[in-house]
Amino acid sequence: MDLILRNGTIVTANDTYEADVGIKDGKIKQVGLDLESAKKTIDVSGMYLLPGAIDAHTHVDVEFQGQRSVENFHSGTVAAACGGVTTLIDYALPGPGQTPQQTIETWHAKAKNKAIIDYGFHIAIFEPNDASIQQIPDVIAAGHPSFKIFMMGTFEQNIEGYLDMMAAVGRHGGLVNLHVEDACCLNYLAKRFNAEGKYGAKYFADSRPRLAEGIAATRAIGLAQITETPAYLVHLSCEESLESVNRARGKGQVVYGETRPCYLHFSREKMMEENGVLYAGWPPLREADQMEILWQALESGVLQTVATDHDGWSLQQKKTFNKVDEILAGMAGLETMVPLLYSQGVRKKRLDINRLVEVTSTNPARLFGLYPRKGTITIGADADIVVFDPNAKKTIRAQDMHSAADWDPFEGWVVDGWPRMTLSRGEIIVENGKVLGLPGRGQLLKRKKFSESEARL
Ligand code: MN
Repeated sequence: MDLILRNGTIVTANDTYEADVGIKDGKIKQVGLDLESAKKTIDVSGMYLLPGAIDAHTHVDVEFQGQRSVENFHSGTVAAACGGVTTLIDYALPGPGQTPQQTIETWHAKAKNKAIIDYGFHIAIFEPNDASIQQIPDVIAAGHPSFKIFMMGTFEQNIEGYLDMMAAVGRHGGLVNLHVEDACCLNYLAKRFNAEGKYGAKYFADSRPRLAEGIAATRAIGLAQITETPAYLVHLSCEESLESVNRARGKGQVVYGETRPCYLHFSREKMMEENGVLYAGWPPLREADQMEILWQALESGVLQTVATDHDGWSLQQKKTFNKVDEILAGMAGLETMVPLLYSQGVRKKRLDINRLVEVTSTNPARLFGLYPRKGTITIGADADIVVFDPNAKKTIRAQDMHSAADWDPFEGWVVDGWPRMTLSRGEIIVENGKVLGLPGRGQLLKRKKFSESEARL
Protein backbone atom coordinates (compact mmCIF):
# COMPACT_ATOMS: atom_id res chain seq x y z
CA MET A 1 0.00 0.00 0.00
CA ASP A 2 1.09 3.55 -0.68
CA LEU A 3 -1.27 4.97 1.90
CA ILE A 4 -3.69 3.77 4.56
CA LEU A 5 -6.42 5.97 5.98
CA ARG A 6 -7.01 4.38 9.36
CA ASN A 7 -10.11 4.31 11.59
CA GLY A 8 -12.32 6.58 9.51
CA THR A 9 -16.07 6.22 9.05
CA ILE A 10 -16.73 5.30 5.44
CA VAL A 11 -19.94 6.69 3.98
CA THR A 12 -21.38 5.39 0.73
CA ALA A 13 -24.85 5.78 -0.77
CA ASN A 14 -25.87 2.63 1.11
CA ASP A 15 -23.70 2.19 4.17
CA THR A 16 -21.92 3.92 7.02
CA TYR A 17 -19.19 1.88 8.74
CA GLU A 18 -15.79 2.09 10.32
CA ALA A 19 -12.87 0.64 8.39
CA ASP A 20 -9.40 1.35 7.05
CA VAL A 21 -8.88 2.23 3.39
CA GLY A 22 -5.73 1.06 1.64
CA ILE A 23 -4.61 2.91 -1.48
CA LYS A 24 -2.13 1.82 -4.12
CA ASP A 25 -1.30 3.36 -7.50
CA GLY A 26 -4.14 5.85 -7.15
CA LYS A 27 -6.80 3.20 -6.63
CA ILE A 28 -8.61 1.86 -3.59
CA LYS A 29 -6.97 -1.49 -3.08
CA GLN A 30 -8.33 -2.63 0.29
CA VAL A 31 -11.19 -1.75 2.58
CA GLY A 32 -11.18 -3.58 5.89
CA LEU A 33 -10.26 -3.77 9.54
CA ASP A 34 -6.68 -3.53 10.79
CA LEU A 35 -5.01 -3.33 7.38
CA GLU A 36 -1.28 -4.06 7.33
CA SER A 37 1.01 -1.08 7.36
CA ALA A 38 1.84 1.05 4.34
CA LYS A 39 4.48 3.54 3.24
CA LYS A 40 2.30 6.14 4.92
CA THR A 41 -0.54 5.86 7.41
CA ILE A 42 -2.89 8.64 8.44
CA ASP A 43 -5.18 8.31 11.41
CA VAL A 44 -8.58 9.68 10.48
CA SER A 45 -10.60 8.61 13.51
CA GLY A 46 -13.65 10.79 14.06
CA MET A 47 -13.70 11.72 10.37
CA TYR A 48 -16.10 10.71 7.63
CA LEU A 49 -14.56 9.32 4.46
CA LEU A 50 -16.81 10.43 1.63
CA PRO A 51 -16.37 9.59 -2.04
CA GLY A 52 -15.26 12.84 -3.68
CA ALA A 53 -18.19 14.85 -4.94
CA ILE A 54 -18.86 15.07 -8.68
CA ASP A 55 -20.19 18.47 -9.64
CA ALA A 56 -21.96 17.71 -12.90
CA HIS A 57 -22.83 21.31 -13.74
CA THR A 58 -20.17 24.00 -13.90
CA HIS A 59 -19.12 26.93 -16.09
CA VAL A 60 -15.56 27.35 -14.87
CA ASP A 61 -14.14 29.48 -17.69
CA VAL A 62 -16.89 31.03 -19.71
CA GLU A 63 -17.80 34.12 -21.71
CA PHE A 64 -21.17 35.83 -21.74
CA GLN A 65 -22.27 39.32 -22.79
CA GLY A 66 -18.66 40.06 -23.72
CA GLN A 67 -17.49 39.28 -20.17
CA ARG A 68 -15.08 36.45 -19.45
CA SER A 69 -15.38 34.91 -15.99
CA VAL A 70 -12.53 35.72 -13.61
CA GLU A 71 -12.42 31.99 -12.79
CA ASN A 72 -10.26 29.59 -14.75
CA PHE A 73 -9.61 25.86 -14.51
CA HIS A 74 -6.89 26.39 -11.92
CA SER A 75 -8.75 28.62 -9.47
CA GLY A 76 -12.01 26.78 -10.10
CA THR A 77 -10.64 23.30 -9.50
CA VAL A 78 -8.70 24.50 -6.44
CA ALA A 79 -11.97 25.83 -5.01
CA ALA A 80 -13.60 22.51 -5.88
CA ALA A 81 -10.90 20.42 -4.21
CA CYS A 82 -10.96 22.57 -1.07
CA GLY A 83 -14.70 21.94 -0.82
CA GLY A 84 -14.55 18.18 -1.38
CA VAL A 85 -15.32 18.11 -5.11
CA THR A 86 -12.92 15.80 -6.95
CA THR A 87 -14.54 15.70 -10.38
CA LEU A 88 -16.42 18.28 -12.36
CA ILE A 89 -18.30 18.12 -15.60
CA ASP A 90 -18.19 21.50 -17.26
CA TYR A 91 -20.39 22.74 -20.07
CA ALA A 92 -18.43 23.09 -23.30
CA LEU A 93 -20.20 25.86 -25.22
CA PRO A 94 -19.61 26.19 -28.98
CA GLY A 95 -18.59 29.45 -30.59
CA PRO A 96 -20.40 30.44 -33.80
CA GLY A 97 -20.05 27.65 -36.37
CA GLN A 98 -18.09 25.36 -34.03
CA THR A 99 -18.84 21.65 -34.26
CA PRO A 100 -19.01 19.46 -31.12
CA GLN A 101 -15.47 18.16 -31.74
CA GLN A 102 -14.06 21.67 -32.11
CA THR A 103 -15.92 22.70 -28.97
CA ILE A 104 -14.32 19.87 -27.00
CA GLU A 105 -10.86 20.88 -28.26
CA THR A 106 -11.48 24.50 -27.22
CA TRP A 107 -12.58 23.47 -23.73
CA HIS A 108 -9.80 20.92 -23.31
CA ALA A 109 -7.29 23.65 -24.12
CA LYS A 110 -8.75 25.80 -21.34
CA ALA A 111 -8.55 23.01 -18.78
CA LYS A 112 -5.57 20.79 -19.50
CA ASN A 113 -2.67 22.74 -18.02
CA LYS A 114 -4.69 24.18 -15.18
CA ALA A 115 -7.04 21.64 -13.60
CA ILE A 116 -6.01 19.96 -10.34
CA ILE A 117 -8.97 17.53 -10.37
CA ASP A 118 -10.40 15.28 -13.08
CA TYR A 119 -13.02 16.67 -15.41
CA GLY A 120 -15.35 15.93 -18.27
CA PHE A 121 -17.44 18.03 -20.65
CA HIS A 122 -21.09 18.09 -21.54
CA ILE A 123 -21.35 19.34 -25.12
CA ALA A 124 -23.84 22.12 -25.74
CA ILE A 125 -25.24 22.51 -29.23
CA PHE A 126 -26.57 25.91 -30.30
CA GLU A 127 -26.83 25.13 -34.01
CA PRO A 128 -28.33 21.65 -34.39
CA ASN A 129 -27.45 21.28 -38.07
CA ASP A 130 -26.35 18.16 -39.97
CA ALA A 131 -22.65 18.84 -39.38
CA SER A 132 -23.15 18.86 -35.61
CA ILE A 133 -25.59 15.97 -35.45
CA GLN A 134 -23.38 13.74 -37.60
CA GLN A 135 -20.59 14.01 -35.03
CA ILE A 136 -22.71 12.80 -32.13
CA PRO A 137 -21.89 9.06 -32.42
CA ASP A 138 -18.14 9.74 -32.56
CA VAL A 139 -18.29 12.22 -29.70
CA ILE A 140 -20.12 9.68 -27.53
CA ALA A 141 -17.66 6.95 -28.51
CA ALA A 142 -14.78 9.28 -27.61
CA GLY A 143 -16.08 9.50 -24.04
CA HIS A 144 -18.46 12.46 -24.00
CA PRO A 145 -21.96 10.96 -23.76
CA SER A 146 -23.90 14.01 -22.53
CA PHE A 147 -25.22 16.96 -24.51
CA LYS A 148 -26.99 20.18 -23.63
CA ILE A 149 -29.98 22.01 -25.02
CA PHE A 150 -31.03 25.46 -23.79
CA MET A 151 -34.79 25.78 -24.31
CA MET A 152 -34.48 29.56 -24.05
CA GLY A 153 -33.12 32.14 -26.52
CA THR A 154 -33.33 30.86 -30.09
CA PHE A 155 -34.64 27.40 -29.18
CA GLU A 156 -37.87 27.80 -31.17
CA GLN A 157 -36.05 28.70 -34.39
CA ASN A 158 -34.07 25.46 -34.20
CA ILE A 159 -36.70 23.10 -32.87
CA GLU A 160 -36.60 20.60 -35.74
CA GLY A 161 -32.85 20.31 -35.54
CA TYR A 162 -33.04 19.86 -31.78
CA LEU A 163 -35.44 16.95 -32.17
CA ASP A 164 -33.05 15.26 -34.63
CA MET A 165 -30.24 15.94 -32.20
CA MET A 166 -32.13 14.41 -29.26
CA ALA A 167 -33.01 11.33 -31.27
CA ALA A 168 -29.36 10.90 -32.33
CA VAL A 169 -28.12 11.23 -28.76
CA GLY A 170 -30.65 8.69 -27.51
CA ARG A 171 -29.95 6.23 -30.33
CA HIS A 172 -26.19 6.27 -29.78
CA GLY A 173 -26.15 5.90 -26.01
CA GLY A 174 -26.09 9.45 -24.76
CA LEU A 175 -28.08 11.58 -22.35
CA VAL A 176 -29.62 14.98 -23.14
CA ASN A 177 -29.38 17.69 -20.48
CA LEU A 178 -32.00 20.38 -20.83
CA HIS A 179 -32.18 23.90 -19.46
CA VAL A 180 -35.90 24.23 -18.94
CA GLU A 181 -37.16 27.80 -19.19
CA ASP A 182 -39.62 28.50 -21.97
CA ALA A 183 -38.15 30.79 -24.64
CA CYS A 184 -41.51 32.16 -25.66
CA CYS A 185 -42.44 33.30 -22.11
CA LEU A 186 -38.99 34.68 -21.36
CA ASN A 187 -38.63 36.60 -24.60
CA TYR A 188 -42.08 38.12 -24.26
CA LEU A 189 -41.55 39.19 -20.65
CA ALA A 190 -38.08 40.63 -21.26
CA LYS A 191 -39.41 42.70 -24.14
CA ARG A 192 -42.30 43.95 -22.03
CA PHE A 193 -40.18 44.70 -18.95
CA ASN A 194 -37.60 46.57 -21.03
CA ALA A 195 -40.33 48.62 -22.73
CA GLU A 196 -41.82 49.51 -19.35
CA GLY A 197 -38.43 50.45 -17.92
CA LYS A 198 -38.53 47.62 -15.39
CA TYR A 199 -34.81 47.22 -14.98
CA GLY A 200 -32.74 45.71 -12.22
CA ALA A 201 -32.61 42.83 -9.79
CA LYS A 202 -35.99 43.45 -8.22
CA TYR A 203 -37.74 42.63 -11.50
CA PHE A 204 -35.50 39.72 -12.41
CA ALA A 205 -37.45 36.88 -10.80
CA ASP A 206 -40.75 38.06 -12.30
CA SER A 207 -39.16 38.14 -15.75
CA ARG A 208 -38.52 34.37 -15.53
CA PRO A 209 -41.50 32.97 -13.63
CA ARG A 210 -42.00 29.46 -12.27
CA LEU A 211 -44.66 28.85 -14.88
CA ALA A 212 -42.06 29.30 -17.64
CA GLU A 213 -39.97 26.58 -16.00
CA GLY A 214 -42.98 24.30 -15.61
CA ILE A 215 -44.05 24.70 -19.25
CA ALA A 216 -40.54 23.98 -20.51
CA ALA A 217 -40.10 20.98 -18.21
CA THR A 218 -43.33 19.41 -19.41
CA ARG A 219 -42.36 20.07 -23.00
CA ALA A 220 -38.81 18.75 -22.55
CA ILE A 221 -40.14 15.52 -21.11
CA GLY A 222 -42.62 15.17 -23.96
CA LEU A 223 -39.93 15.78 -26.58
CA ALA A 224 -37.69 13.24 -24.86
CA GLN A 225 -40.49 10.68 -24.97
CA ILE A 226 -41.19 11.31 -28.66
CA THR A 227 -37.52 11.08 -29.61
CA GLU A 228 -36.98 8.09 -27.28
CA THR A 229 -34.17 9.81 -25.45
CA PRO A 230 -33.23 9.80 -21.77
CA ALA A 231 -33.42 13.32 -20.37
CA TYR A 232 -31.76 15.11 -17.46
CA LEU A 233 -33.37 18.40 -16.47
CA VAL A 234 -30.78 20.74 -14.99
CA HIS A 235 -31.10 23.04 -11.99
CA LEU A 236 -34.81 22.70 -11.21
CA SER A 237 -36.06 25.35 -8.83
CA CYS A 238 -39.78 24.92 -8.22
CA GLU A 239 -42.76 22.62 -7.79
CA GLU A 240 -44.04 23.22 -11.33
CA SER A 241 -41.10 21.40 -12.94
CA LEU A 242 -40.79 18.83 -10.12
CA GLU A 243 -44.39 17.78 -10.69
CA SER A 244 -43.66 17.11 -14.38
CA VAL A 245 -40.55 15.10 -13.55
CA ASN A 246 -42.34 13.12 -10.87
CA ARG A 247 -45.30 12.32 -13.12
CA ALA A 248 -43.08 11.11 -15.97
CA ARG A 249 -40.89 9.04 -13.65
CA GLY A 250 -44.03 7.50 -12.17
CA LYS A 251 -44.95 6.32 -15.65
CA GLY A 252 -41.53 4.79 -16.15
CA GLN A 253 -39.95 7.39 -18.41
CA VAL A 254 -36.17 7.77 -18.12
CA VAL A 255 -36.05 11.30 -16.76
CA TYR A 256 -33.90 12.85 -14.06
CA GLY A 257 -33.83 16.10 -12.15
CA GLU A 258 -30.99 18.20 -10.73
CA THR A 259 -31.19 21.11 -8.31
CA ARG A 260 -28.71 23.71 -7.29
CA PRO A 261 -27.55 24.91 -3.85
CA CYS A 262 -28.86 28.48 -4.20
CA TYR A 263 -32.46 27.26 -4.52
CA LEU A 264 -32.10 25.24 -1.32
CA HIS A 265 -30.53 28.06 0.69
CA PHE A 266 -32.04 31.32 -0.60
CA SER A 267 -35.42 32.71 -1.57
CA ARG A 268 -36.14 35.53 -4.01
CA GLU A 269 -36.26 38.07 -1.16
CA LYS A 270 -32.49 38.09 -1.57
CA MET A 271 -32.92 39.89 -4.91
CA MET A 272 -34.56 42.84 -3.13
CA GLU A 273 -31.42 43.55 -1.11
CA GLU A 274 -28.89 46.17 -2.11
CA ASN A 275 -26.64 43.59 -3.77
CA GLY A 276 -29.58 41.60 -5.10
CA VAL A 277 -28.15 41.43 -8.60
CA LEU A 278 -25.39 39.14 -7.30
CA TYR A 279 -28.00 36.45 -6.72
CA ALA A 280 -29.34 36.46 -10.28
CA GLY A 281 -29.31 33.07 -11.93
CA TRP A 282 -31.18 31.14 -14.58
CA PRO A 283 -33.74 30.19 -13.36
CA PRO A 284 -34.04 32.87 -10.66
CA LEU A 285 -34.47 32.37 -6.92
CA ARG A 286 -38.02 31.44 -5.99
CA GLU A 287 -40.56 32.01 -3.21
CA ALA A 288 -39.50 30.79 0.24
CA ASP A 289 -41.95 27.87 0.30
CA GLN A 290 -40.16 26.29 -2.67
CA MET A 291 -37.00 25.75 -0.62
CA GLU A 292 -38.54 23.10 1.62
CA ILE A 293 -40.28 21.52 -1.39
CA LEU A 294 -36.86 21.09 -3.02
CA TRP A 295 -35.28 19.60 0.11
CA GLN A 296 -38.12 17.09 0.29
CA ALA A 297 -37.80 16.26 -3.41
CA LEU A 298 -34.11 15.63 -2.87
CA GLU A 299 -34.66 13.33 0.10
CA SER A 300 -37.63 11.49 -1.42
CA GLY A 301 -35.98 10.82 -4.78
CA VAL A 302 -37.96 13.10 -7.11
CA LEU A 303 -34.59 14.82 -7.66
CA GLN A 304 -31.44 12.75 -8.16
CA THR A 305 -28.57 15.22 -8.03
CA VAL A 306 -27.29 18.51 -6.68
CA ALA A 307 -24.85 20.47 -8.84
CA THR A 308 -23.66 24.04 -8.53
CA ASP A 309 -23.94 25.70 -11.95
CA HIS A 310 -20.75 27.40 -10.72
CA ASP A 311 -19.83 30.69 -12.38
CA GLY A 312 -16.93 32.83 -11.20
CA TRP A 313 -17.95 36.42 -11.93
CA SER A 314 -16.43 39.40 -10.13
CA LEU A 315 -18.56 41.87 -8.20
CA GLN A 316 -17.96 44.44 -10.88
CA GLN A 317 -18.99 42.08 -13.67
CA LYS A 318 -22.21 41.17 -11.89
CA LYS A 319 -23.06 44.84 -11.52
CA THR A 320 -22.34 45.74 -15.16
CA PHE A 321 -25.79 45.00 -16.56
CA ASN A 322 -29.21 46.14 -15.50
CA LYS A 323 -31.80 44.96 -18.03
CA VAL A 324 -33.52 41.74 -16.96
CA ASP A 325 -32.34 39.90 -20.07
CA GLU A 326 -28.75 41.18 -19.82
CA ILE A 327 -27.97 40.70 -16.11
CA LEU A 328 -25.14 38.19 -15.70
CA ALA A 329 -26.45 34.94 -14.30
CA GLY A 330 -24.61 32.67 -11.90
CA MET A 331 -22.50 32.54 -8.78
CA ALA A 332 -19.70 30.53 -7.22
CA GLY A 333 -20.62 27.34 -5.39
CA LEU A 334 -17.95 24.68 -5.87
CA GLU A 335 -16.23 25.15 -2.52
CA THR A 336 -19.37 25.38 -0.39
CA MET A 337 -21.73 22.81 -1.94
CA VAL A 338 -20.82 19.79 0.19
CA PRO A 339 -20.30 21.58 3.53
CA LEU A 340 -23.60 23.46 3.12
CA LEU A 341 -25.50 20.28 2.26
CA TYR A 342 -24.00 18.70 5.36
CA SER A 343 -24.65 21.69 7.59
CA GLN A 344 -28.10 22.66 6.31
CA GLY A 345 -29.20 19.21 5.18
CA VAL A 346 -27.71 16.44 7.31
CA ARG A 347 -27.43 18.43 10.55
CA LYS A 348 -30.96 19.76 10.16
CA LYS A 349 -32.28 16.28 9.38
CA ARG A 350 -33.51 17.11 5.89
CA LEU A 351 -31.12 14.59 4.29
CA ASP A 352 -29.27 11.66 5.73
CA ILE A 353 -25.57 11.49 5.07
CA ASN A 354 -25.87 8.51 2.72
CA ARG A 355 -28.30 10.51 0.62
CA LEU A 356 -25.85 13.41 0.61
CA VAL A 357 -23.24 11.06 -0.88
CA GLU A 358 -25.76 9.69 -3.33
CA VAL A 359 -26.91 13.06 -4.73
CA THR A 360 -23.45 14.64 -4.88
CA SER A 361 -21.37 11.67 -5.98
CA THR A 362 -22.91 8.26 -6.67
CA ASN A 363 -25.84 9.43 -8.77
CA PRO A 364 -23.84 11.82 -10.98
CA ALA A 365 -21.30 9.02 -11.50
CA ARG A 366 -24.03 6.60 -12.54
CA LEU A 367 -25.75 9.11 -14.82
CA PHE A 368 -22.66 10.40 -16.55
CA GLY A 369 -20.71 7.22 -17.24
CA LEU A 370 -18.18 7.34 -14.39
CA TYR A 371 -19.45 4.60 -12.09
CA PRO A 372 -17.85 2.71 -10.34
CA ARG A 373 -14.52 4.29 -11.21
CA LYS A 374 -15.85 7.32 -9.36
CA GLY A 375 -18.84 7.92 -7.13
CA THR A 376 -18.23 5.45 -4.33
CA ILE A 377 -15.63 4.00 -2.00
CA THR A 378 -15.02 0.48 -3.20
CA ILE A 379 -12.14 -1.74 -4.21
CA GLY A 380 -10.85 -0.82 -7.67
CA ALA A 381 -12.29 2.70 -7.68
CA ASP A 382 -10.15 5.79 -8.06
CA ALA A 383 -9.06 6.91 -4.59
CA ASP A 384 -11.01 10.17 -4.77
CA ILE A 385 -11.78 10.56 -1.09
CA VAL A 386 -12.77 13.45 1.14
CA VAL A 387 -11.75 13.30 4.77
CA PHE A 388 -14.63 15.29 6.19
CA ASP A 389 -14.53 16.65 9.73
CA PRO A 390 -18.12 16.83 10.99
CA ASN A 391 -17.04 18.90 13.99
CA ALA A 392 -15.18 21.61 12.11
CA LYS A 393 -16.88 24.99 12.27
CA LYS A 394 -16.21 27.52 9.59
CA THR A 395 -17.44 30.98 8.72
CA ILE A 396 -17.61 31.46 4.96
CA ARG A 397 -15.61 34.51 3.90
CA ALA A 398 -14.90 35.33 0.26
CA GLN A 399 -11.33 36.19 1.18
CA ASP A 400 -10.78 32.65 2.48
CA MET A 401 -12.46 30.94 -0.44
CA HIS A 402 -10.40 29.85 -3.42
CA SER A 403 -12.62 30.96 -6.27
CA ALA A 404 -11.17 33.90 -8.17
CA ALA A 405 -14.49 35.68 -7.65
CA ASP A 406 -14.10 38.48 -5.10
CA TRP A 407 -17.39 37.73 -3.35
CA ASP A 408 -19.25 34.70 -2.09
CA PRO A 409 -23.03 34.27 -2.03
CA PHE A 410 -22.79 32.69 1.43
CA GLU A 411 -20.62 35.40 3.01
CA GLY A 412 -20.89 35.24 6.79
CA TRP A 413 -22.68 31.88 6.94
CA VAL A 414 -21.39 29.63 9.70
CA VAL A 415 -21.26 25.98 8.67
CA ASP A 416 -20.82 22.81 10.68
CA GLY A 417 -18.46 20.40 8.97
CA TRP A 418 -15.66 21.03 6.47
CA PRO A 419 -13.21 18.86 4.52
CA ARG A 420 -9.97 18.20 6.39
CA MET A 421 -8.25 16.57 3.44
CA THR A 422 -9.05 15.80 -0.20
CA LEU A 423 -7.49 12.98 -2.20
CA SER A 424 -7.64 12.64 -5.97
CA ARG A 425 -6.46 9.32 -7.39
CA GLY A 426 -4.68 8.67 -4.11
CA GLU A 427 -2.79 11.94 -4.06
CA ILE A 428 -3.44 14.36 -1.20
CA ILE A 429 -4.32 17.51 -3.10
CA VAL A 430 -5.62 19.54 -0.15
CA GLU A 431 -4.58 19.10 3.48
CA ASN A 432 -5.87 21.34 6.28
CA GLY A 433 -6.61 24.13 3.82
CA LYS A 434 -3.21 23.87 2.13
CA VAL A 435 -3.43 23.19 -1.61
CA LEU A 436 -0.89 20.58 -2.68
CA GLY A 437 -2.26 19.49 -6.07
CA LEU A 438 -0.40 20.98 -8.99
CA PRO A 439 -2.08 22.55 -12.01
CA GLY A 440 -2.39 20.14 -14.92
CA ARG A 441 -2.58 16.98 -12.78
CA GLY A 442 -6.33 16.76 -13.47
CA GLN A 443 -7.26 14.49 -16.37
CA LEU A 444 -9.95 14.66 -19.02
CA LEU A 445 -12.19 11.68 -18.33
CA LYS A 446 -13.34 9.29 -21.00
CA ARG A 447 -16.86 8.52 -19.85
CA LYS A 448 -18.98 5.46 -20.65
CA LYS A 449 -22.22 5.54 -22.58
CA PHE A 450 -25.41 6.21 -20.66
CA SER A 451 -26.83 2.98 -19.28
CA GLU A 452 -30.41 2.83 -18.13
CA SER A 453 -29.72 -0.17 -15.90
CA GLU A 454 -26.78 1.54 -14.23
CA ALA A 455 -28.80 4.73 -13.78
CA ARG A 456 -31.95 3.19 -12.29
CA LEU A 457 -32.21 5.96 -9.71
MN1 MN B 1 -25.61 26.30 -16.31
